[in-house]
Amino acid sequence: MKIEKVFVIGAGTMGAGVAQVFAQSDFDVTLVDTGDEIVRRALGMIEGSLTRAVQKGKIDNSRKEEIIKRIRGETDLGKAKEADFVVEAVFESLALKKEIFKQLDEECPPEVILCTNTSSLPITPIAAATKRPQKVIGMHFFNPAPVMKLVEIIRALTTDDETYKIVWDISLQLGKEPVGVNDSPGFASSRILMVMINEAVFALWEGVGDAKAIDDVMKLGMNHPMGPLELADLIGLDICLNVMNVMYEGFQDTKYRPCVLLKKMVAAGYLGRKTKKGFYEYK
Ligand code: NAD
Repeated sequence: MKIEKVFVIGAGTMGAGVAQVFAQSDFDVTLVDTGDEIVRRALGMIEGSLTRAVQKGKIDNSRKEEIIKRIRGETDLGKAKEADFVVEAVFESLALKKEIFKQLDEECPPEVILCTNTSSLPITPIAAATKRPQKVIGMHFFNPAPVMKLVEIIRALTTDDETYKIVWDISLQLGKEPVGVNDSPGFASSRILMVMINEAVFALWEGVGDAKAIDDVMKLGMNHPMGPLELADLIGLDICLNVMNVMYEGFQDTKYRPCVLLKKMVAAGYLGRKTKKGFYEYK
């Protein structure tokens, strides 16, 4: 089956980035969200990102216009009956994702592959919400999607080889570097990253060092481009807590318990850069 029309469901940070990535590789993209204003904002974000690429001399203005023309905004999920391939990037909620996949399964032709961009939720129950569990898979892009090379491809227990191969090949077509893993809470990426971040929060909480000292150790000694606490502020402390809770629940292992300090900061509304206060303060 030829894949030309890609539907991206959810026009937030990731959905906008993923839509841009597909359009840059000449797919026709429909970006779906619940309201016109959200879709308009996402199209504005994509335009801003492409304008920066023009300013940096990476593409010219006519290429920018071409890419923009390939992306259409939509608020009706029912239009997914026209899709050849779907990537879902709505809020990180298992109940919401199952509901969306159930609807997509009803709308999309039976041969269409349905991908989720979840960063921690198990893929197998999302697949089980459909009548095509062999065609459901994790296609995990990283933020910012147009820049980051990795696509972590996560097989549900039910995903078949053909689906895996198609998603692998499409990732290459997008100029990305796919890495395949199996379905497990947090996969490889979030599991390793979030445990490191959570451990850095424990070190801060127990007074091993202040935030700058902890981050400097990891930057200067381990060559990490950002310290774990700076990175937590960038990701959002609410998201970090959510992923730790998914792994704690998924593994039933205290190794994944979120640090009390992380929980308190989220409860206080100190979520990192987006609230201008996390482990650091932002102007
Ligand atoms: P976000 O909050 O920026 O965007 C989510 C979007 O989903 C919102 O625009 C919302 O209106 C939309 N939405 C909610 N319900 C919907 C529905 N029924 N139909 C259509 N749209 C709906 O979130 P995000 O940061 O873009 O994350 C999206 C997904 O990508 C999550 O699963 C997240 O775990 C994953 N992810 C996030 C990052 C990151 O760094 N932000 C990285 C990788 C993966």
